[in-house]
Amino acid sequence: MPTHTEQSAVTVLGLGPMGRALVSAFLAAGVRTTVWNRTPGRDKELVEQGAISAASAEEAVSASPLTVVCVVNYDASDAVLRRDAVTDALKGRTVANLSADTPDRARDTARWAQEHGVRYLDGAIMTPVATIGTPHGVFLHSGPADLYEEHRPVLDALGGTHTHLGEDTGRAAAYDVSLLDIFWTAMTGYMHALAIAKAEGISAQELAPFAAGIGAILPAIFEASAAEVDNGTYSGEDNPITSTASTMSHVIHTSESHGIDAGVMRAAEGLVRRVIDEDHGNDGATRIVELLGRR
Ligand code: NDP
Repeated sequence: MPTHTEQSAVTVLGLGPMGRALVSAFLAAGVRTTVWNRTPGRDKELVEQGAISAASAEEAVSASPLTVVCVVNYDASDAVLRRDAVTDALKGRTVANLSADTPDRARDTARWAQEHGVRYLDGAIMTPVATIGTPHGVFLHSGPADLYEEHRPVLDALGGTHTHLGEDTGRAAAYDVSLLDIFWTAMTGYMHALAIAKAEGISAQELAPFAAGIGAILPAIFEASAAEVDNGTYSGEDNPITSTASTMSHVIHTSESHGIDAGVMRAAEGLVRRVIDEDHGNDGATRIVELLGRR
């Protein structure tokens, strides 16, 4: 952890739960932190912790060489950054946009920044609020490497792991959406599993330890599947996709026997059936990646 002096300064725009957590972490690390939020009044506790409250976004960005943006999405960050007074105040300064959105929106914002003399880094936060300022936070960054290195001491004040993924500004968002794909399909699967379990008289807390067991086997499967996908092997030796189709159908039938919508699993089973219909029934589920990747 670098030593922060009074010369370290950052502005944070957006004081939702994540923005507030970022501000607290910067303050705890001794970084002079100026804050602004669209709806006034959200900075009260932060000011008590030592944050400087700005009356406007333009006043806020003028206070620091680096502005971290953490709002709901890029419609929101555009609404803040692309106002003339704010854009003018940002000329020659750096924005690190840690709001979540798509790779295309990140690249579009980088183009806008270049046209307006704003130095731009994009990023994504992969872990919940409680991890910020602890070793458990995970931050992804993309954009010019020299700009990232320049601001790294301040960004590192947020704690956790910071990874610069490359010069393509959209790369952090590309990792973010890929990882959110895993998270939200898994969480939707878990919610659906709890609904089936409940219909079968099993409480959520009774199932939870076994659900955690399923979670624990995933990392090794992720690694092995990634190697298969990169090598194009799609081996079904231990678990052919015909067997996957069978177990998926058990979920669908049990779900629908209780009148529970099985749409998510039906979508997954549909992909598996397409692989089997294409004569790849002896392959593993990784063959789905090849199917989906065809354009
Ligand atoms: P939200 O995603 O709900 O974002 C709230 C913030 O967005 C508030 O500051 C809000 O301002 C601002 N906002 C919304 N619309 C506008 C607008 N049109 N103009 C200006 N500001 C606007 O809460 P979080 O703080 O939790 O999330 C911020 C970002 O961090 C999101 O992109 C989220 O995906 C990401 N993130 C959050 C995590 C979490 O655990 N919370 C985890 C990882 C990433 P106002 O108060 O005025 O409404």
